[in-house]
Amino acid sequence: MDALENKTALVTGASRGIGRGIAQRLARDGALVAVHYATGRDDAEETVAAIEGEGGRAFTVAARLGEPGDVHRLFLDLERGLKERTGSTELNILVNNAGVMGGVAPEDMTTERFDELFAVNARAPYFIVQRALTNLVAGGRIVNISSGLTRFANPDEIAYAMTKGAVEQLTLHFAKYLAPRGITINSVAPGITRNGNPVFDVPEAVEQMAQLSAFGRVGEPQDIADVVAFLASDGARWVTGAFIDATGGTLLG
Ligand code: NDP
Repeated sequence: MDALENKTALVTGASRGIGRGIAQRLARDGALVAVHYATGRDDAEETVAAIEGEGGRAFTVAARLGEPGDVHRLFLDLERGLKERTGSTELNILVNNAGVMGGVAPEDMTTERFDELFAVNARAPYFIVQRALTNLVAGGRIVNISSGLTRFANPDEIAYAMTKGAVEQLTLHFAKYLAPRGITINSVAPGITRNGNPVFDVPEAVEQMAQLSAFGRVGEPQDIADVVAFLASDGARWVTGAFIDATGGTLLG
């Protein structure tokens, strides 16, 4: 039997990058996966097609996070999709992966950009967890994607790193709240990981980024997806409130 057979999962930001890798891995393990996106509908449909091509099950859900009504829209779509396919709105696994980066020098940060970073990266995951409490079953799993930048200084990412610090606090405190229901919640912190960003097409840039990892390469979405799959599995039932370093040793210094 597959590890996640008869389980349902929501992966936010699964149209591309790390989220797509997570969605594919959870589906490979047997879960029915809701592939969330904001505007990248074609990409999200590509994720679903890739999953179905491997014999898995998935459907898309759309909602631009960081805007009024975002979580409500997300769950309307999610619950409709789950009900159609399973007859219920029960959710076993929630992965808060959608996020936006900063890439702004400290003196150039604006209050608008700062608020947008917090709205998408920190506020949305909080209210997604809050809303998911009615859907999550006993033994449920929540995984929040943080970043190695909460422990590795980069002045162009101060506000972004602050949002991920907030995500780690969300994990810690919700862990205590959710444990009586047998639900675990953990943070996974990737280091530099290949996504669709054009910088990964520049060999010199990739070579430079690879040096940050103790293994001398950049991370791949599967490197992160495998960690998330473990946390989503029964084998991780005794792990909650944890910060999991998935930076390929970048934080070793
Ligand atoms: P990508 O930029 O490749 O993809 C981002 C995903 O999030 C897309 O699916 C996108 O949807 C979605 N998204 C972006 N903004 C919004 C929004 N406002 N509302 C809803 N969905 C949105 O991201 P990565 O794969 O690189 O990163 C995934 C996670 O990992 C993020 O939380 C990021 O902070 C974290 N991370 C990434 C690292 C890396 O090196 N790649 C390193 C450390 C952490 P759409 O396609 O519709 O735009």
